[in-house]
Amino acid sequence: MTFTYEALPMRVVFGAGSLRRLPEEAERLGLRRLLVLSTPGQRALAEHAAGVLDDACAGMFTGARTHVPIEVADTARRAAREANADGCLAIGGGSTIGLGKAIALASGLPVISVPTTYAGSEMTTVWGLTENGRKRTGRDRAVLPRSVLYDPELTLCLPVDVSVTSGFNAIAHAVEALYAPDASPIVSLMAEDGVRSLAAALHAISADRLDLDARTDALRGAWLCGACLGATTMSLHHKLCHILGGTFDLPHAATHTVLLPYVAALNLPAVPTAEHALRRALATDDVPKHMARMSVGLGAPRSLAELGLTGNEFDEIVIQAQSQPYANPRPVTTEALRCLLMDAFDGTLAP
Ligand code: NAD
Repeated sequence: MTFTYEALPMRVVFGAGSLRRLPEEAERLGLRRLLVLSTPGQRALAEHAAGVLDDACAGMFTGARTHVPIEVADTARRAAREANADGCLAIGGGSTIGLGKAIALASGLPVISVPTTYAGSEMTTVWGLTENGRKRTGRDRAVLPRSVLYDPELTLCLPVDVSVTSGFNAIAHAVEALYAPDASPIVSLMAEDGVRSLAAALHAISADRLDLDARTDALRGAWLCGACLGATTMSLHHKLCHILGGTFDLPHAATHTVLLPYVAALNLPAVPTAEHALRRALATDDVPKHMARMSVGLGAPRSLAELGLTGNEFDEIVIQAQSQPYANPRPVTTEALRCLLMDAFDGTLAP
């Protein structure tokens, strides 16, 4: 066995009610003028967080949008300058955290993050910006949040369908981390436990959205899966989701959910250790089929057709996927990629 592992410098404060510890975290970082960021839909939560920060809140920007359009990033960066902010508080899902990262990228301002979905962006150095319909991404240590507060109480209002697809978005990070070129024993432990924790929790959440124990397990799993994403290089699955979201505007978390079983079906036969870890975590002998049936059983979309693809896009997807090299445990032929896309288009694993 050979591996290289480098831990990212991150601080996590976890537990129900941990939003109340925001002033402590700001003080610890020496921050006195935070700009609070959110989407328009989470404005009330942002106002609540601003109240918790009290004097340490310098203003609010509630215009975060998915995939961080450059115009939104520029307006938010201006708002941070005008408020003379010394840091940002990003409270919300990956879209809001992505906006915090865009501000940090341009200004170096530190970010405190309070995630309210399971997407995992708060654990990574990856930033993204969308300009002229194309999303650029990169890695920069400056965008990694300095402190992350995970408060399961803030996820109680996440609708069940969004919880399920967001949970599968997190599970996808763990699946690809298990066969990443830079996988390591500690990442594999986090990945297996993250999948186990999330899978059990998603069943309980779909039975009762307000089950705080299940919400706690789901967020704990999301943290572990996000940490896997931050520690490894992603492969074919994330590459395809990036293309489907960026070029064809498919919804981020739902696309991850639909596609994951099909990429797993292609890759897992080549990586037995990863497959065994997932079999243990999901208590199944057939990981791809189990994931497809579980997500559909919990109400998620079953096919790329349901997400709005017409079936005429496959050539373009294949061209884009093969235009730049990416990591994958198996070489991916044009034929294999087309078959995978056709199966996911039809939803063959969850009839
Ligand atoms: P999102 O942030 O767009 O949130 C989806 C919707 O749910 C939004 O309207 C939001 O306001 C609402 N919402 C969030 N939390 C809620 C809650 N607790 N209760 C009720 N409503 C709530 O979606 P997402 O899936 O979290 O993030 C997707 C974005 O994050 C994409 O742009 C993706 O590329 C990015 N992302 C980046 C990374 C990274 O490492 N850079 C990792 C994962 C995702």
